[in-house]
Amino acid sequence: MNPQTKHVCVIGAGIVGLSTAWRLMQDGWQVSVIEESAAPGLVTSYANGAQLSYSYVAPLAEPTALTSLPKWLLQKDGPLHIHPSLSPTFLRWTLSFAMHCSTASAQQTTRDLLGLGYLSRRVLREWLADVPASWATAAGLDYRTNGKLVVFRDPAALALASAQVNYQRSLNVGCEQHVLSPSECLQTEPALAAMQSKLVGGIFTPSEDVVDSHGLCKYLERLIASRGGKLLYDTRITGAFLEGRRCIALKLKSQSTVLQEAQSEKAADMTEFKADFFVVAAGLSSRELLQKFDTRAPLLGLKGFSITLDCEKGIAPSMSITDSHHKIVFAKLGHRLRAAGMVDLGRENREVDANRIKALIQQARDNFPDAGDYSNVQTWAGLRPATPSSRPIIDQTACENVYANIGHGTLGLTLAAGSADLLADKLAGRTSSLPMTPFTFLAA
Ligand SMILES: Cc1cc2nc3c(=O)[nH]c(=O)nc-3n(C[C@H](O)[C@H](O)[C@H](O)COP(=O)(O)OP(=O)(O)OC[C@H]3O[C@@H](n4cnc5c(N)ncnc54)[C@H](O)[C@@H]3O)c2cc1C
Repeated sequence: MNPQTKHVCVIGAGIVGLSTAWRLMQDGWQVSVIEESAAPGLVTSYANGAQLSYSYVAPLAEPTALTSLPKWLLQKDGPLHIHPSLSPTFLRWTLSFAMHCSTASAQQTTRDLLGLGYLSRRVLREWLADVPASWATAAGLDYRTNGKLVVFRDPAALALASAQVNYQRSLNVGCEQHVLSPSECLQTEPALAAMQSKLVGGIFTPSEDVVDSHGLCKYLERLIASRGGKLLYDTRITGAFLEGRRCIALKLKSQSTVLQEAQSEKAADMTEFKADFFVVAAGLSSRELLQKFDTRAPLLGLKGFSITLDCEKGIAPSMSITDSHHKIVFAKLGHRLRAAGMVDLGRENREVDANRIKALIQQARDNFPDAGDYSNVQTWAGLRPATPSSRPIIDQTACENVYANIGHGTLGLTLAAGSADLLADKLAGRTSSLPMTPFTFLAA
C-alpha cells in the first residue's frame, strides 16, 4: 500500500489522536483530524498530572487493589471513591478488573507497559528534540527531563515498591531506579522539607520527563498543520455509513448544528466525511462511538482532579513528586505547580467536585506549604478512559478499515507517542517493535 495516496481520518484531537495523526503523517499518509471541541486537547488531555512516567506503569489491577478496598472505602478524603452502579458497563468493567488483580497478570501488564513506555520515550524525545524556542513558548510546552521521586510514609508500601523496583530491574529493559532514605530524599529534592518527618523513604527515577499536556497537544497541532494535515474543529462524529465490513464515510455535524438540533429536535445530518481509513481516538467517548462500528470497547471513566497554582515566588519541587500515601502527583511546569490525583469510580461527569478539590488543596498544602497561593488555584476534572487491565487498545475494529487507539487510562500522556507508533505499524502492515497481542480488544 502506498500511504502517499491514501487518506486517514483520525477522530479526536486529544493527546492520543494528535500523536497518532502526526506519526501517520511521518509515514506519508494524508491525514485529517476531526474534533468536536473548538481547539485541541481541551478534554482529558488538558490539565492532567503532566508526568511522562515511563518507568511507573504498574497497572491499577494488582493484588493489593482488592485488599486495600475496605480501607479506601472508609476514608472520606481518601484517594479512591467508588460510587457503585448497576449499569452493565460498570459491572462488566469491575468484574474484569477484579479478574486482572493477580500477581501474574499485574507482572505481565507491567512488562507490556514498560515496553510501550520506553518506546514512547524514544519516539517523543525524537519529536521534541529540536523544537524552535518560539514554538515551545507559544504552545506552553514546559518540557524537560526532571526525574521523578515517589515518596512513602508507610514502611510496608515502601517495601512493596522496592520489590517492584527489583522486579523491573530483573527485566533488563534499562530501568534505572534508586531506593532512597528520608535524608537522601531531602537531598535530592530540598522542597520536601515540610514532609521530611513523615517520610520513610522514596524511589528515584532520574530519566522521567515532564510536559504540559495541553501544550504538547498544541505543539502537535502545529506540526500537523505545518505539513499540510487538516484539522476540523467544532465538528462531531454522530454516525457512520457502513458497507459490509467497511466504513465508507462518517456522519458529521458542526457543533452549532448539534446544539440547534438538540433544541429543535430536528435530525437532519449536516454532511459526511470520506476517507480510506479511520482511527477512533476519542477518549472515553470512544465507547459510544465504536458501537457505530459494531465494536464494544471495555472503557470506564476514572474521574480525577487537578489544581494549578503560580509558584514563581514559592518553594516548589523541581522534580516530579508522587505522594504515594495520598496518590497525588506534583509537577513543576515553568512557573506553575500542578497537583493531580484521585480516582472516582462510577462518576462519569466532568464537574469539578468542590469537596474533592478542597481535599486536594489541603493535601498539596500539607506537602508544600510555601509553594504558592493556595487560595488562588485553577481547578480541573477529567475522566481517564481506562480498560480493566490498564493496557490501551491499539487494534482493528469489527470494520476492516477502522482502527482504535483508546483506553490509556492513567497514562495517556506517557503512552501516546508509543501507541501512535504501534498504530502506524499496524496500518502500514509492518512488523512492530513490540508484540501487539497485549494491546488488542481481546486482551483489554
Ligand atoms: C487527574 C488526571 C491526571 C492525569 N495525569 C496523567 C499524567 O500525569 N500522566 C499521564 O500519562 N496521564 C495522565 N492522565 C491520563 C491522561 O490525561 C489521559 O489518559 C489522556 O489525556 C487521554 O487522552 P485521549 O486523547 O485518549 O482522550 P481525550 O484527551 O479525552 O481526547 C479525546 C478527544 O476526542 C474528542 N471527541 C470525543 N467524541 C468525539 C466525537 N464524537 N466527534 C469528534 N470528536 C470527539 C474529544 O472532544 C476529545 O478532544 C491523567 C488524567 C487525569 C484525569
